[in-house]
Amino acid sequence: MNQERNCLDCGEPLHGRADKKFCNDLCRNNYNNQLNSSSYNLVRNINNILRRNRRVLEELNPTGKTKTTRKKLAAKGFDFDHITSIYQTKTGSTYMFCYEYGYLLLDGDEVLLVKREES
Ligand SMILES: [Zn+2]
Repeated sequence: MNQERNCLDCGEPLHGRADKKFCNDLCRNNYNNQLNSSSYNLVRNINNILRRNRRVLEELNPTGKTKTTRKKLAAKGFDFDHITSIYQTKTGSTYMFCYEYGYLLLDGDEVLLVKREES
């Protein structure tokens, strides 16, 4: 079977050796520069923050609904600036979510942790 492969940079079909990934050095350099570019790093850093946030919420909320404090979240490295979605209830409460784990800021230092049930 001769499966068609495409250049990882420009997407043009490749010819020649089976382990070839780029048309030429220009495409290879372009691709590698992009991997190291600041926008790529920005995305990667934010992904890491979101993953850590989710892990912290999961760790502090093994039952699916519990209360904790901002202090405890912060101590575990939780970053309140990064979430994946917002859910507003009819009563006006705003839940912040990192993937399926969410939180609601309560009075004082308290935080309600919830988990979205997948249907
Ligand atoms: Zn190319």
